[in-house]
Amino acid sequence: MRVHLVNPSDLAFGVGVITPRWLYVIAGATPERYGDPLIVDETLEPFDPDRVQPGDVVGIGVHTFNSLRGYEVGRIARDRGATVVFGGVHASLYPDEARELGGAHAVVKGDGDVVWPGVLADCANGGPRELYEGGRIEADQFVPARWDLIPPDRYMWGSVQTVRGCPKHCSFCSVWRSDGQRPRQRASDRVIQELVELRRMGYRFVVLADDNFYPVTLRDLKVADRKADKSRLHELEAIRAERFELMARLAELPKDMFFFTQITMEVADDPQFMDAMRAARIRGALVGIESVTAEGLKAVYKNFNSSGDDLVRVLRTFRRHGLHVLGSFIFGLPTDRPDTFDATVELAERADIAFAQFVMLSPLPGTLDFLAWEEAMAGDSRRIAGQPLTRYWLIPQHLRPKLYIPHPAMSPEEIRERTQRVWDRFYSLRSIWERSRVTPNLGFRLAFVLISKLYRQMYANTGIATDSARVSRSTRMARWLAAPCRRLFVARPMPDLEAPKLRAEQPLLHKCD
Ligand code: SF4
Repeated sequence: MRVHLVNPSDLAFGVGVITPRWLYVIAGATPERYGDPLIVDETLEPFDPDRVQPGDVVGIGVHTFNSLRGYEVGRIARDRGATVVFGGVHASLYPDEARELGGAHAVVKGDGDVVWPGVLADCANGGPRELYEGGRIEADQFVPARWDLIPPDRYMWGSVQTVRGCPKHCSFCSVWRSDGQRPRQRASDRVIQELVELRRMGYRFVVLADDNFYPVTLRDLKVADRKADKSRLHELEAIRAERFELMARLAELPKDMFFFTQITMEVADDPQFMDAMRAARIRGALVGIESVTAEGLKAVYKNFNSSGDDLVRVLRTFRRHGLHVLGSFIFGLPTDRPDTFDATVELAERADIAFAQFVMLSPLPGTLDFLAWEEAMAGDSRRIAGQPLTRYWLIPQHLRPKLYIPHPAMSPEEIRERTQRVWDRFYSLRSIWERSRVTPNLGFRLAFVLISKLYRQMYANTGIATDSARVSRSTRMARWLAAPCRRLFVARPMPDLEAPKLRAEQPLLHKCD
């Protein structure tokens, strides 16, 4: 019984930017007696059905946007006599769909790390149950990734998770509902061990694949401090202390290692934390800016973000601390108007952010927005390729609408066109060259240009384009850019690298005064 793990994708680029962590974690959770799993990441190369034999187990992890391709892979694998098991955030929400459309024998809901060996044992002993509840496991149960299985010369960045869960509750985001609002932090030893392993192999750029790297804000501490019962305050202080401990240890890793993470912008008001990030060589962060107006932020329950001139101040604070921001903006919010698009890109330019992504508001399953939209659409009888709009991920890609939630002031096409123009403006060669001034020399400036263009080809053209010719052009261009970009990120392996020890004098508790 051979175990196959498949990350489905309609588009293959030959080289991947970030290692799909789940593949290597579930490989790590696979008991030795089944041998090394055969890992297939379709963002590199398509799945080859001929490698599947009757009696094998094929594990497929899906999120909403690759679920349709995942179901195709599942049916192919089942036809070849394999036992098919689905997992991932989308299968957790729609287990019946994976069974009906994806040929699933079994579905794992929630975290797969702990439950996976039991699923395999059942597969080997007569067949799996229909459903397994993985739940939300504690951080000390997170399984380390099997980085020894990573194919050589294929990825630019490693990915290591340090904390799961986010205390916020943004209406368009499913993270806090699937991973929970209580941060589950891994002990620094385990994180450092994985990072050392990656650096030994030559990976010096690593994404800290966290839901929110800053789970306790100064405001949270102040609110907890006002209470007579200090137990919550002590809990939050302990979480914060562990963050500082981790960052102090990141700083001890080889100086050519750099990190990128996801974080809320509240960290800009916490200079102690930002200084620690800088010392840890966390050089970039994805920051969910979403909207540049207070009304837009209110619409998505993200009032804790800054807007207008204060937003510019906050984003420049990141830059002052050596942190390059990948700003994420949403278009299509009910408060958006035609002038919102120019205002957004102008603010992005004024705020000195290095990279940006401009996404169109989509009701994502598992979010509050989706629940409200699904309810509002209850009487809608429209079908595309036999599917209601509330199951849009089952509509073939080329027929899928680009926007679903009706806007009070603009048509879907107007929002799409304006969004495309914003990408075009932000990633014009002139703008990229201007932004590349942040780098120290000509070589880095050229690298910045190359990476910006790759980012745009991979994410903008393929996501927003309406015609298939543009999508295939972009995919070809991304394939062509990806290989030289990869060489910019990797380094000579350091097979003898040892993990730095936790030093006694490293600060364990940083309180806000
Ligand atoms: S968008 Fe970011 S801050 Fe908001 S809930 Fe999701 S992960 Fe947390």
